[in-house]
Amino acid sequence: MTKYMISLLLILLVIPCYADRDKLYVVSTTGMIADALENVGGDLITVDSLMGPGVDPHLYKATANDTKKLARADIIFYNGLHLEGKMQKILMTMSRRKIVCAITNGIPESKLIKPEGFDGLHDPHIWFNVSLWQEAVKKITGVLCGVDQKNAQAYQKNSEAYIKKLQTLHSWAQQQINLIPQKSRVLITAHDAFGYMGKAYGFEVMGLQGVSTVTESGIKDIERIVQVIVSRNIKAIFEETSVMNKGVEAVIEHCKELGHEVKMGGSLFSDAMGEPGTIEGTYVGMVEHNVKTIVRALSSTDKE
Ligand SMILES: [Zn+2]
Repeated sequence: MTKYMISLLLILLVIPCYADRDKLYVVSTTGMIADALENVGGDLITVDSLMGPGVDPHLYKATANDTKKLARADIIFYNGLHLEGKMQKILMTMSRRKIVCAITNGIPESKLIKPEGFDGLHDPHIWFNVSLWQEAVKKITGVLCGVDQKNAQAYQKNSEAYIKKLQTLHSWAQQQINLIPQKSRVLITAHDAFGYMGKAYGFEVMGLQGVSTVTESGIKDIERIVQVIVSRNIKAIFEETSVMNKGVEAVIEHCKELGHEVKMGGSLFSDAMGEPGTIEGTYVGMVEHNVKTIVRALSSTDKE
């Protein structure tokens, strides 16, 4: 192949594919990102999310159908910070010929959490600080405006309206969490997905598994959590919709053997939203569900 042919091929590859479509075709990895895109893009874009309800992004591998969607996409948005740990290669390949944007790229390091035992990497679960999620929405808006300039004003307008909604949600979440008595503000879940939520709204968080679900919880993790629950008289712990909850059940059993009753506080949406068409199938709905579930379980048990 001559040098000329190679350059021609490269030019053809980088020409935006959407030139022959009416709308941008935008693909996201997680449902949370797709929801932000739908709020900003409205009817002006077509959004496709690779990971549906109940899917664990830490373990997710792209299917043949996903590869087709990614190849067809005009823009690809992903979370980054190693959330999609098993998709890095394909995202890297796609980034050679189209815009592939990590929504967390550009968030100041001071706002990110660097948990212990995560090899010096940052915690990727930024969506549970509603204030931080607004930065992701702004990032998405900037990219859409840059690629599709004729609709930039509309994207901007939608984005501003959505951010107002998120500001209201952030204040509401804070008011609700404040209802939990200070000493009961401990959130124990299947994996460490809620670090940003704890930091933003003021409660301690502990997960049976670490920040990623790649390493399964062992007997030592169970013993560690059981000890905390018994010594601090914690009354409720939580399962998650997108990960294995065997460890959580084992913790409840072990506590029982030691004569401490800890109940299942409910199921939280951690790394995936609820079914499409339900309230929890939206970002705002998933946050509301989680906050209500946490407040109900941790406040009521304190009165008993
Ligand atoms: Zn996670």
